[in-house]
Amino acid sequence: MQNNVPRKITLTEQGALDVPDVPIIPYIEGDGIGRDIWPATRLVIDRAVAKTYREKRRIEWLELLVGEKGFHQTGQWLSDEALKTIGDHVVAIKGPMTTPVGAGIRSLNVAIRQKLDLYACVRPVRYIESVPSPMKAPEKIDMVVFRENTEDLYAGIEWQAGSDEAKKVIAFLNAQMGTELAEHTGIGIKPISETNSKRLVAKAIDYAIESGRSSVTLMHKGNIMKFTEGAFSRWGYEVAKDRYGDQTITEAELYDRFDGRRPDGKVVIKDRIADMLFQQVLLRPDDFAVIATPNLNGDYISDALAAQVGGLGMAPGANIGDACAVFEATHGTAPKYAGLDKVNPSSLILSGAMMLDYMGWNESAENVRRALQKTIKQGVVTYDLARQIQGAREVKCSEFAAAITRNL
Ligand code: NAD
Repeated sequence: MQNNVPRKITLTEQGALDVPDVPIIPYIEGDGIGRDIWPATRLVIDRAVAKTYREKRRIEWLELLVGEKGFHQTGQWLSDEALKTIGDHVVAIKGPMTTPVGAGIRSLNVAIRQKLDLYACVRPVRYIESVPSPMKAPEKIDMVVFRENTEDLYAGIEWQAGSDEAKKVIAFLNAQMGTELAEHTGIGIKPISETNSKRLVAKAIDYAIESGRSSVTLMHKGNIMKFTEGAFSRWGYEVAKDRYGDQTITEAELYDRFDGRRPDGKVVIKDRIADMLFQQVLLRPDDFAVIATPNLNGDYISDALAAQVGGLGMAPGANIGDACAVFEATHGTAPKYAGLDKVNPSSLILSGAMMLDYMGWNESAENVRRALQKTIKQGVVTYDLARQIQGAREVKCSEFAAAITRNL
């Protein structure tokens, strides 16, 4: 039966999404170029849903005043109420946001991730035909990076060289822990925990199983950092064996027991040292499907992979936890282009497609990706791609979105 009453998305007791035909989805327009790329994205998503499902499904958008817009209208950059609304609605989408200077907030993006415990930063990297790429065969790249989002050197535990705190820590380590640190040394702490590592790797394995991916690679630097990065890898293998024993095999088992041929339906769990993986994603990109990794490695490899498909400014992303997910453009607010209707909205549009996939509206997501690819293939692109593609026709941000809707 058709139900046209807008409702919230909810979670079942098993943690699965219950998506009504007209879900209410909160959005944050974002600062700077947010005002250009959000309307473009909304147009494409709405039209794709309408085209795919006719009157049966649509999205009821709910604006949240967060960031500069929030500050000007409500006096708050990020209110508790906005955070609660995101949490209550399970799925949300956001444009880029300025980091407020002197507002006592390190970064709004980091605050949203931490307060809603969105522990997995998920970045799919797939080639879009006709986009200029530095690779000879960029079509071989089809990977999804699961980057741990809450700890590692990003936890913000650090002390400046010469500060009282750094001196205290150095005195303790030198006197009681057998180190020989020089007096004027900056200190940063790298916490990597069993709980957070295991839940991140579990999320990556869940995704690989659901989407029929062949492998999950644990990327780490455990040869040097044994008790942090090395432990991440060990915990990754442990969670695969303990929780997904029937659905996974290790790479060692693949060769010892199956002669290198992956049995149907099994996800291969393997690990690679971080520096070596940077070589292998260039030389043998089709060996890798899903990558699970601590925060810092994940930051580096996500951007390197995005550059390999030529789409540093076009890469989609999401921050996902157990109770909610926020989809976002991966670039910043590009203030010098704000309001000029000039920039490329693809990153946010493709994040919107990821959101549709997450909701189980996969046909409409595929429709968005196909139409975007077709538009670029026709040579209709924004300034950033126009200067790299010979014979391309440069259009405005809004015109690019309109061209995509004609290709849906
Ligand atoms: P930026 O990504 O905003 O812009 C750098 C340059 O990249 C721009 O000048 C432009 O040339 C290009 N660019 C970015 N997005 C583009 C698009 N969609 N189409 C075409 N070209 C594009 O990085 P920045 O200048 O370092 O940061 C500006 C602000 O954004 C800062 O306040 C920063 O804190 C914030 N930021 C926010 C996020 C986020 O919200 N997720 C991410 C990064 C930076």
